[in-house]
Amino acid sequence: MSEAPPAAQSPRPCPICAKPRSERYRPFCSRRCADVDLGRWLGGNYAIPANEEGQEEMPEAERGEGT
Ligand SMILES: [Zn+2]
Repeated sequence: MSEAPPAAQSPRPCPICAKPRSERYRPFCSRRCADVDLGRWLGGNYAIPANEEGQEEMPEAERGEGT
């Protein structure tokens, strides 16, 4: 039949970058990924240096219409 995939170091990888998570920053692999996830919870307007390039699509709805 089908063989189950060999269990890696961790049953669940980092939800942000899918890397093996760290016990220190679980369930993330690093503090940066934890910050990224936290930023999403805070509103998704968090600055992510890793995705700053090539992702410059800002909805005009964010612009203030003055008065
Ligand atoms: Zn990660």
